[in-house]
Amino acid sequence: MSFKSLGLSEALVKAVSAQGYDTPTPIQAKSIPPVLEGKDVLASAQTGTGKTAGFTLPMLQLLSQQQPLRKRPVRALILTPTRELAAQVHKNVKDYSQFLDLRSTVIFGGVNQKPQVSKLKNGVDVLIATPGRLIDLNNQGLLSLSEVEILVLDEADRMLDMGFLRDIKKIMGLIPKQRQTLLFSATFSKDIRKLANEFQNNPVSVESTPENTTVEAIEQQVYRVAKEKKTGLLIKLISEGNWEQILVFTRTKHGANKLVKKLEAAKISAAAIHGNKSQAARTKALAGFKSGQVNVLVATDIASRGLDIPLLPYVVNFEIPNVSEDYVHRIGRTGRAGASGLAVSLVSADETVFLRDIEKLIGEKLPVEILEGFEPDPNASTKPFNPQKRGRKPRHNSRSGNHNARPSKSNANKSRR
Ligand code: AMP
Repeated sequence: MSFKSLGLSEALVKAVSAQGYDTPTPIQAKSIPPVLEGKDVLASAQTGTGKTAGFTLPMLQLLSQQQPLRKRPVRALILTPTRELAAQVHKNVKDYSQFLDLRSTVIFGGVNQKPQVSKLKNGVDVLIATPGRLIDLNNQGLLSLSEVEILVLDEADRMLDMGFLRDIKKIMGLIPKQRQTLLFSATFSKDIRKLANEFQNNPVSVESTPENTTVEAIEQQVYRVAKEKKTGLLIKLISEGNWEQILVFTRTKHGANKLVKKLEAAKISAAAIHGNKSQAARTKALAGFKSGQVNVLVATDIASRGLDIPLLPYVVNFEIPNVSEDYVHRIGRTGRAGASGLAVSLVSADETVFLRDIEKLIGEKLPVEILEGFEPDPNASTKPFNPQKRGRKPRHNSRSGNHNARPSKSNANKSRR
């Protein structure tokens, strides 16, 4: 199958080729045709499946089929949960629209609004935004959404997790009811379905079984280790294995900062990325990591979705997540676009229960190793460090129901909507 056969115009096919893609991914093959037909689409797709092009390409085609309006009001709005994802989606929109007469810009909080406002004033066809800054600029009368024809909610589950439900509802009130609404989500909770029922019109449901892009292509390894020996073990694995480009997850922001210091002391270049870092610091850390200047990016779960780091070879769970679905999202950062990856989890005694939860979710037992000198402490308690938070998203209050993560192909069909 080719992009052309999906009904995409020459300008878009050319732009896609320029990115080096010749075959649509499953989610692209499924979502592009109904979007081109003007239908609402409800898509279950994780990051790494090519979902961004799945909604961006047909959206750009629909917009380019009409004459641009004189003042260039916003005709397509893409909402994303995080600044990083907004920036990435904007980059994709720019890449894919390079041969079209369409303008796009991105707005998000944490940075000066002036440059964003001046871009908006010049007129843009496609706006990518995080909800907070969008509402803020709208409240200041600096933005109009009254001409929006296409709305995309990207990583809708993440938006609800982050407490954006009220903002989303508010934004819906600013957009014409007569519109095309595309909702992309990695998981489907009751709240996501409610959102779709409320804001979509007879949506076409599409699902992607990511092929060779997620869990199956990832080698997973657990090291049982004493808590206080985790840093030493990580340094050993990185140094002796000559690992490069490693994304490490820690449970807390403080833990991320501490680990960066210790890695740097061991002469391993590292940077942290989490919610307490300024936007400038986050962008710098990510750019350094992508360019190879920074070997280890230490992140909290904020980075577990939406970061576009192609071909990431290593993901390390310095602490395994207490919400099992986060494990799937975290390790989904590796083994992308057909490349294989290694996902390593350092598990101390108090994380035993979380490891079992994860194995239950993914439907397989993970291989366990113990390295000499880094043995687990036989006297350590196996009591979870935070039992009341087991299986629940800590900062989320607006969500109910279970996430249906898709851990593996064999489980996928059973667990999906
Ligand atoms: P996404 O799920 O949108 O974050 O995309 C995941 C990665 O796959 C990104 O690095 C894209 O640039 C890349 N990608 C998107 N579409 C294709 C395709 N058809 N073939 C190969 N790679 C792709």
